[in-house]
Amino acid sequence: MKLTFPRIGDSHIYGRLLFRELGVDIIIPAPNSEEGLLRGAAKSPEDICLPFKMMTDNLLSAWEKGADTVVMPATMGPCRLGEYGELLAVVMQKYGCNYRWILLDSLSAIGPKELLRRLSMVVEDSPRSTAGILLALAKTYSLIKSHEKLQADARMQSPYEKEKGTVKSILSVCRKELEKADSLSDAMEAVRRNRHRLLTLERSTKRRPLKLLITGEIYTQIDSFGNHHIEDTLMDLGVSFEKGMSIGWWIRNTVLNPFGGLLAEIKKNPLMPHRIGGYAKETVNDAIRYAKEDFDGIIQLFPVGCMPEIVAKSVLDDLTKEERLPALSIIYDEMGGEAGYATRIEAFVEMLERKRETKDVLSGNRCGVCKH
Ligand code: SF4
Repeated sequence: MKLTFPRIGDSHIYGRLLFRELGVDIIIPAPNSEEGLLRGAAKSPEDICLPFKMMTDNLLSAWEKGADTVVMPATMGPCRLGEYGELLAVVMQKYGCNYRWILLDSLSAIGPKELLRRLSMVVEDSPRSTAGILLALAKTYSLIKSHEKLQADARMQSPYEKEKGTVKSILSVCRKELEKADSLSDAMEAVRRNRHRLLTLERSTKRRPLKLLITGEIYTQIDSFGNHHIEDTLMDLGVSFEKGMSIGWWIRNTVLNPFGGLLAEIKKNPLMPHRIGGYAKETVNDAIRYAKEDFDGIIQLFPVGCMPEIVAKSVLDDLTKEERLPALSIIYDEMGGEAGYATRIEAFVEMLERKRETKDVLSGNRCGVCKH
């Protein structure tokens, strides 16, 4: 068996290390790219959302490299994500990629017995004992948490760096080291090393950066190709930001806490009382959270064709009008080119800076003439 999985964010880093530890052969699809997106779009149903097109290309590329089995999470959810697995299987079959499929639906959807059966298919070639497999899973999750903590701290700390670009370079060095690491322990050590570099960085504490909240659809939040490297853009603009979703977040909410969705359902949100698929409810929850915490603005990301986020956007639009929520929605399509997106983000950040300046002047914290 040569296993593969769709490439999203750093999943290829964690997947390589985990399966290496388990002794299972894997094939990593080629990195997401514009050419890949064009090929995926040409072979996918016309009106499907963008992540599906990327995954189509991922699986075509893995098949060309020799993969024969796909493992992928599924949600059985009300939006198209719930049908991704089945639909991808049809598309792959059409193009002669006769994969064997292992769909990891959530525990609440298929029950513990079926989920265990599917999980055992993933590790059927592994020479490790059950204890060894569980240990590798625990170590991988621990690595994901530490790497994501490093990234979260970097997002908040980057505006304070004395030398521009240092924080971005720490993250990039760390990622390269993880891509080359021989084992999960080496990878953990790489994260520790780079965390130490971040914590001991020379910083300028006098700055008062804007603080933004990034929310929206999960794929575009996690995958840097899917969001046109928005994190780099924000770091270049010198703002701090938090991001709601990550691979670790998904594991916590779907695998470790499979009833989290139901609990979220019970926890009524007056603006979006029901789950409508995808992560629209989480987006609206974030907008409510914005109002309660000290964020200066919120950016919603989603790919063109994403139905749940369109509905969430309409709630955000109302909040912008009625509650003066400073929100920017960015919809990513199949067009390349970073400039258009970067200009809109730059204009939004500038508008927030002016807004804060005016507020400071009106409250007497800043002179309206010299701005000090
Ligand atoms: S959340 Fe949006 S982008 Fe993701 S599968 Fe559902 S409709 Fe498509």
